[in-house]
Amino acid sequence: MKESRKGKRVVISASERVTMLPPYLFAQIDRQKEAALKKGMELIDFGIGDPDMPTPLHIVDAGKEAVTEPSFHRYPNGSGSEFFLCAARKWMRTQFGVEIGEELDVSSVIGTKEGIAHVPLFFCNPGDVVLVPNPGYPVYRASVILADAVPVDLPLLRENAFVPDISSISSEIIAGTRMIFLNYPNNPTGAVLTLDQMSEIVNWARREDILIVSDNSYSHIRFDGNPPRSFLQIPGAGEVCLEFHSLSKTFNMTGWRVGLIVGGSQLIRTFVSAKENIDSGVFTAVQKAAEAALSSYTSGYFDIYSKRREILVNGLKKLDWDVCDSPGTFYVWVKLPKETQSMRFARKLIAQTGIVVTPGSGFGTYGEGYIRFALTIPEESIHKAIGRLEQKELFSHRIRAWLKKGVE
Ligand code: PLP
Repeated sequence: MKESRKGKRVVISASERVTMLPPYLFAQIDRQKEAALKKGMELIDFGIGDPDMPTPLHIVDAGKEAVTEPSFHRYPNGSGSEFFLCAARKWMRTQFGVEIGEELDVSSVIGTKEGIAHVPLFFCNPGDVVLVPNPGYPVYRASVILADAVPVDLPLLRENAFVPDISSISSEIIAGTRMIFLNYPNNPTGAVLTLDQMSEIVNWARREDILIVSDNSYSHIRFDGNPPRSFLQIPGAGEVCLEFHSLSKTFNMTGWRVGLIVGGSQLIRTFVSAKENIDSGVFTAVQKAAEAALSSYTSGYFDIYSKRREILVNGLKKLDWDVCDSPGTFYVWVKLPKETQSMRFARKLIAQTGIVVTPGSGFGTYGEGYIRFALTIPEESIHKAIGRLEQKELFSHRIRAWLKKGVE
């Protein structure tokens, strides 16, 4: 323990910004999981949005081969090697019909989480308002706080199909707003946007001089029969939009840490010139693996998630659970009965069934009263979970009773 010269204990405190970050909410869930394991229960974990399937072999092989290349052992190119950027441009063209030429540009990021966390720091001044979806991926709010900007909730309500009602934002708030985070297909609600809705948001952002930060991490996971969408498909979007694409979910590459940021050339220039002060880019061997991925997309995993989703959604509906049934992402968002606290419910579910879900309150105040299932476990486990919920008549009665009355 460090002592000062006068013998007093030295306490170096965190910055005020850091103390304002929301607390880690899942410690209670972790404790409940540990307790269940100690009792010898087998957990069925729908908690984590981390694909359970391995990275496809041809991608791993490309990475393996690249690791032995001595020139790749040196510092990478900050915004990405030309071969990677070329594959990224092709990806945007073939998957979204978005041409990256003079008006738009692209850079690598060390996973979209890193990119998202830095955007407010690069584009906001202290006190600027940033509209943050609630419920939403917690990094948006944290990144705004770390930039000394002001997060303002953008409620995602079930009655609006979890799409923000921008017409309800007051003119005072809009006057101070610098940026809006949007994430469709949406974590945690599974909602998607139509092209018309995207167009309306782009026109609004252009009118109001607001930067759209679109998190398109789940672009390819949607079950409504529509192709993947990008905000950059909307004419004029490049002026006001930065969009993140992640390889993590699309190619089962969460551990590799690589993603893209695409947007107006001027915006990307600002992003890259600021970022160069913070990191030195993505390991070039990882970029080689990413090149292999971006050049060979197949929808094989989509079918697996689709089947898992069908089993879970149908199984829960049979047991009278109120499933929101939105068409995107590998998450299933479920409404609990009125007054039921999601954290309490999630803990009780682990204790009584060994089934782990994420309480909606972890995604913000408007997530309270919901729970999230991640479809990142095999079909057999999902069947088993449904089996546990309906196993005994008494048991399913009890769950129905919770769902009707709420958890005491
Ligand atoms: N955005 C959303 C909405 C996510 O859910 C996640 C991860 O769960 C990320 C971004 C982070 O993705 P990456 O692995 O590319 O950093």
